[in-house]
Amino acid sequence: MPLFTKIIASIGPASSDAATIFSMVKAGVSGFRINFSHGSPEDWAKYVDAIRSAESRLGRPVALIGDLQGPSIRIGRVEQPIVLKKGETARIMPGSEAKGGDEKVIPMPINKFFDVIEEGDILVMDDGRTRLRVSDIQTDYIEITALTDSVITSRKAVTIYNKEIDLPPLSETDMNNVKFAIAHDFDYIGLSYVRSGSDIDILRDYLRRVGREDIGIIAKIETKSAIKNLDEIIEKSDAVLVARGDLGMNFGLEEIHSLQSTIVDKALQHRKPVIVATQLLESMVEKPVPTRAEVVDVSTAVEMGVDALMLTGETAVGKYPLEAVSWLIKIVNFVEKSTLKSEFEDIAKKARKNISELKLMFAKGVIELAEDMNAKLVVFSIYGNTAKRISSLRPTIPVYVGSSNTSIMRKLAILWGVQPIQVDANNYEEGLQKAVQKAIELGYIGYGDLVIATYGLKEPRQRIEIQRIVS
Ligand code: ATP
Ligand code: MG
Ligand code: MG
Repeated sequence: MPLFTKIIASIGPASSDAATIFSMVKAGVSGFRINFSHGSPEDWAKYVDAIRSAESRLGRPVALIGDLQGPSIRIGRVEQPIVLKKGETARIMPGSEAKGGDEKVIPMPINKFFDVIEEGDILVMDDGRTRLRVSDIQTDYIEITALTDSVITSRKAVTIYNKEIDLPPLSETDMNNVKFAIAHDFDYIGLSYVRSGSDIDILRDYLRRVGREDIGIIAKIETKSAIKNLDEIIEKSDAVLVARGDLGMNFGLEEIHSLQSTIVDKALQHRKPVIVATQLLESMVEKPVPTRAEVVDVSTAVEMGVDALMLTGETAVGKYPLEAVSWLIKIVNFVEKSTLKSEFEDIAKKARKNISELKLMFAKGVIELAEDMNAKLVVFSIYGNTAKRISSLRPTIPVYVGSSNTSIMRKLAILWGVQPIQVDANNYEEGLQKAVQKAIELGYIGYGDLVIATYGLKEPRQRIEIQRIVS
């Protein structure tokens, strides 16, 4: 049986070859993230080709997520990594490139950085592994002293602890990357360092103006402001992502679990998809087996009811990208099988509270009918809305969604508990019959199964069919 919780992998040099991407989709990855903060448009275009070709060879819709840099302060390019022992100093200088290495010069392309920086400020990088103290400020450089043994590589984001720099939500580079995402038919755009709902409006307005409002917006929750404005951000976005890397740099690390569970709960209540990312299986960057603690962390996220888990460095630059994917799948699979009933009923209860809209009531009714009869649910969807509603209500029975629209199926691929299947049909009646037929062909439903099939609440008539599969 396919997973309820979906798996997303970040593509980078460690995973970009066609064979690795193919194996990942085959293993069960249903979404890929391309981080526009690293690599070049030529690299990304190659990744996209490999992903789309694996998708069509395997006949499984896959979501493509483009991750914008957003108003992050990233250092420029260094030729060689800068290695600092605790207590050693280096210089931060204006510019987008530096020799780095032994010269120990960190280039900083963002001028505003120099306006806000003060002696004593703490800079945090590399998901918190690197901590630097601003020890001296001169007219043409800033001196920093390493508080941890640090390795500083190109384009890493810098957080100034307890400060947010007021940068525009979308830079010129971001806009170029949005255009790249549109041109290459990405399904979602991830907005980094979101601070309020209006950051989302800006991207949404742009997508609308160019006629691509079908592209979903994923708000990455990682700043203090985002936590403050969480409700309006969730309402305005198509999905939220618990970006634990930067979240852990802007808050105390001890707060991570509580922040994650607040964000996931709020998303469930708003019935919006939620993804958890960063350091899920971090040790697998170097080793082929996860730590016990990582297994428990992944299990906890599954028990919280997240839509998807996203690997970052493990698949982008790790030594064991495929092993990371298969371990993630193995853990998710076990947790879902062993806890589906009890824990998931609690999640469903949260997700199904305060329903007043007719279409949601219908979705809830169909789900609960299927749950009570222990049936499988088959839905035919033209715009994907019924399927999205069903997923948001956290059905505890398998749901198969037939659609003839590839772009809609790709978007559904990373949502909880729904399996998109390609069906060619022009109307709801035909679509529904074909969706059931296809689900049988694919082995998702079979002899003896009870199936509830519907296409959602349509005017003036709707249809719910109950079938026992007899051949
Ligand atoms: P973010 O804050 O958006 O998560 P990140 O810098 O942490 O950005 P990740 O996508 O989490 O980046 O990946 C982890 C690391 O893998 C990056 O810091 C970078 O060193 C490397 N990496 C990721 N994608 C690429 C790529 N396409 N090309 C080269 N290196 C990459
Ligand atoms: Mg990261
Ligand atoms: Mg980030």
